[in-house]
Amino acid sequence: MDREEFSALVDGVGEPAYRAQQLLEAVYRQRVESLEQITTLPQQLRLKLAETGVSIGLPAIENRFVSQDGTVRYLIGFPDGQSVETVWMPEGDGGEAGDGSEAGDSAAPNAGRGWDRATICVSSQVGCAVDCQFCLTALLGVKRNLSAGEIVGQVCAVLKDQKVSPPEHRVNLVFMGMGEPFLNYDNFMKAVRLLAEEVGVAESRMTVSTAGIVPRIHDFGEEPIRPKLAISLNASNDELRTRLMPLNRKWNLEMLLAAARNFPLRPRERVTFEYVLLNGVNDSPANAEEVVELLRGMRAKVNLIALNPGPGIDFSTPAEERVTAFQQRLIKAGIPAFVRRPRGRDIYAACGQLKRTVAIATAPAP
Ligand code: SAH
Repeated sequence: MDREEFSALVDGVGEPAYRAQQLLEAVYRQRVESLEQITTLPQQLRLKLAETGVSIGLPAIENRFVSQDGTVRYLIGFPDGQSVETVWMPEGDGGEAGDGSEAGDSAAPNAGRGWDRATICVSSQVGCAVDCQFCLTALLGVKRNLSAGEIVGQVCAVLKDQKVSPPEHRVNLVFMGMGEPFLNYDNFMKAVRLLAEEVGVAESRMTVSTAGIVPRIHDFGEEPIRPKLAISLNASNDELRTRLMPLNRKWNLEMLLAAARNFPLRPRERVTFEYVLLNGVNDSPANAEEVVELLRGMRAKVNLIALNPGPGIDFSTPAEERVTAFQQRLIKAGIPAFVRRPRGRDIYAACGQLKRTVAIATAPAP
């Protein structure tokens, strides 16, 4: 529920408007788990609200898997029995190793935590309908959309578990978990607004990735509050892309790149293109040249991701030299290109590995 909906609720039970603000703060800032926990409200009012049928809570953390690199993969469950995964990725060393932060800076909010900033990878659907041939989430198919509340609830549950609070702590959000955000567009956008306005994560700290739902890219450009845009390119020509991502039949490279070229970027903003490198399939020098041609003249950058393998995925990971060679070709052509370091591969938390794996070698954290 957003500010307006809370106001209507409070109004409906004949209470003054400031009660809506108290509710918003309890839900999105204190992240309470029941009406009972909102002790700023009189008992009478809590009962009155309960009678309206409104329920307040967080989704359940059903399991946690902790990687050697500090990444945590959460299995998050909803009351109907469905679940998604949300990934916590801390970065940096907390400023203890002489990173230029002032000596004796013990007031820094992250001091002693062992990280400077963290990224939460958020799911938008249970499963996914897009069917990319290299992605484990695709094997689940799509079960249902998440509501705006469930998308925000994932973030709130993880923030609470990690005992952090934006904007005091530096938290980035990437909508790159399970599902295709642009196939659950309205709920996704409502969640973005709640996260920006109520939870406290600036829109500039959020990035959404789409497999290429072209009409929604146009809509997204019109949004007054929006994350940065990333597009999963993953292939350098239509034949290859259709093989790897069947949705390319509906929205081909010409349509996709036109949408990217027309996208209204903010000052200094670029469109990010993700490119999963599959050994011997899309990672040759010729493929790199094709990518250069596709992106020519665009305010773009490329994130290269060497395939994270998984059972049932019929591709292999290229050797590091091939990844570097691909990157160098893009950089030589003036396209900023980065290699995304895999996070939490050992616990099935990395890109393309989210399929609610429970039985893995690493024991769940207590
Ligand atoms: N559905 C959206 C959001 C998910 S983002 C989208 O596709 O953009 C997940 C990213 O991981 C995408 O860029 C996808 O191309 C990439 N990916 C999928 N499977 C992968 C794998 N096995 N290894 C590495 N990256 C993968």
